[in-house]
Amino acid sequence: MKVTILGSGAALPDPKRMHSAFLITVDQDHHYLLDCGHGATHRIVEANVDPAMVNNIFLSHLHHDHCSDYPYFVISTWMCNRDTQIKLFGPKGTRDFSEGLLENGAFKVDIEARSAYPKRQSNMFAIRPEITEIEEGGLIFDDGVAKVYALPVDHIPPETCVCFAFKVEANGKSVVFSSDTTALDSMVDFAKGVDVLIHDTTFPQEAMDYRKELGVGTFSHSTPREAGRIAQRAGAKRLVANHIVHYDNPSPVVQKYLKSHFPPGMIGAELLDSVSEDIKSEYDGHVLLAHDLMRIDI
Ligand SMILES: [Zn+2]
Ligand SMILES: [Zn+2]
Repeated sequence: MKVTILGSGAALPDPKRMHSAFLITVDQDHHYLLDCGHGATHRIVEANVDPAMVNNIFLSHLHHDHCSDYPYFVISTWMCNRDTQIKLFGPKGTRDFSEGLLENGAFKVDIEARSAYPKRQSNMFAIRPEITEIEEGGLIFDDGVAKVYALPVDHIPPETCVCFAFKVEANGKSVVFSSDTTALDSMVDFAKGVDVLIHDTTFPQEAMDYRKELGVGTFSHSTPREAGRIAQRAGAKRLVANHIVHYDNPSPVVQKYLKSHFPPGMIGAELLDSVSEDIKSEYDGHVLLAHDLMRIDI
């Protein structure tokens, strides 16, 4: 099994950290895409995988940083001669999300224009994904190569939209992706003994405290220490600190956005050192700090 981190960032525009997306590859040519945040399709190409060969997509939730590349992925792989229908899984609202974007939605004109060509008419199924809305946790997918399990997590208020963590199992190996969530006891069981746990570590503790003081934004994320504690209790073999909120990008533009809600002086790549130290104070296993196009072979 191979995990390729396509996007390790949070929701700001940051070309060094694209939005959430992870490609799990089993036996060379079976691919499972967890989230489809902005930049996913381009990163798949950078990882030397043909996106038209990626047939299974699992959206953890419908925040734009986890799903905004979806229409581009669908339409561009249709143009790249996709020959297999996409299977799309996501929370309640996923059907409306997908249908509102494709041939009867936002990209109606584009799809009508392109489908005038006979070649494009030959694979119209490529823009008509088979959609499954995940209703509860448990096994949601099994193609005989990999199994995918979902776990409801604590992020968006569930009355707005449920958010799911995913676990992919294949060939006796496993990877858990927490998506965006507070620290949960249920994650400990879900990630018991996993080979790789990719966990939300959006805000270092000091940033979280500062945001609380200012009354800015959501607190539905985990700190590095909390992620470390979960990985320790779960006995995860590797912990990947993920959903990094762009504080390591020196771009003055990115820093300008961050300054409004990050503690003064707390922006810089050196903050990643404190993330790593915080995790290690709670966790004995192997710590990795996510970056785009990081590859983990299990
Ligand atoms: Zn997010
Ligand atoms: Zn989110």
